Amino acid sequence: MYIFDQGRFLDESEVSVSVRNKGLNYGLGCFEGIRAFWNESQKQLFVFRLFDHYKRFYESGNSLNLRIPYSSMDLFRWTIHLLKINSIREDVYIRPICINGENTLHPDLSSSFNRVFIYCTDISYISKPALKVSVSSWTRIGSNMIPPQTKPTGGYLNSALASTEAKLNGFDEAIFLTKDGNVSEGATENIFIVKNKQLITPPISDDILAGITRDTVMRLVNHELKLPIFEKSLSRTELYSADEVFFTGTAIGIKPIIQIDRRVIGKGLEGPITKEIRSRYDHIVRGNNMNYIGYCTPVY
Ligand code: PMP
Repeated sequence: MYIFDQGRFLDESEVSVSVRNKGLNYGLGCFEGIRAFWNESQKQLFVFRLFDHYKRFYESGNSLNLRIPYSSMDLFRWTIHLLKINSIREDVYIRPICINGENTLHPDLSSSFNRVFIYCTDISYISKPALKVSVSSWTRIGSNMIPPQTKPTGGYLNSALASTEAKLNGFDEAIFLTKDGNVSEGATENIFIVKNKQLITPPISDDILAGITRDTVMRLVNHELKLPIFEKSLSRTELYSADEVFFTGTAIGIKPIIQIDRRVIGKGLEGPITKEIRSRYDHIVRGNNMNYIGYCTPVY
């Protein structure tokens, strides 16, 4: 596999980072998680919302004071080139990451030497069709701790603590509450509930990442399903009494949640609205819905 490293496309064996690297030592970096989807009938690979992912990448860098040393147009072009030279002809996950490139000890973000890598990877491990989850004992990071609307490498210790706790307790994933006790999101997913044919998802002010899948789902629910959808703070009890609950995310797609803290949600199966959204989302990301074709960048 080729990897993008500082303007060059190198074989994976040639890419290295020093153990002294400040980004590695303190988690000083930011990243994105992008996906490309293979369309078998068109023999085409489409990258989904590439521009929006790079927009969020720069917003992360800016909020963290971490200067990304290339323009978004360059990263856009290099991402397409990377997929081509790796001859990707299947669904793939793309990870751009910018880290502090210095090898000195003091933990600060204002370095003038930052490194950018982009690599592709398989994510077929997320195969469970429906999840049993738990509310975490860990609180979601808040705006005065680590900016929650960014994707900082170090911030994912918060997600990893919650996810690990959930898995050690026999659940598939964790749900975070905010410091005020509102529902925030999953460890690496946004959350939606369906109640009486209305959809509700927590607002940005409840310390969520402004997910790109979340945004796509809000648009498709509005325009295609014509169901009411609201951004509103949710209590833990509203989760338990929802008709349907699902996660959204680039890696996970649309994923039904059938149990929370051992309470059965709805009928304990994927609900009809979740199923409809999941199937329409799959059409959209593969470039099969012309209303959303602007979101899909062709590679070949
Ligand atoms: N929240 C967190 C903390 C995440 O890491 C992710 C994955 N990027 C999401 C939500 C979902 O965001 P997106 O739909 O943009 O992948």
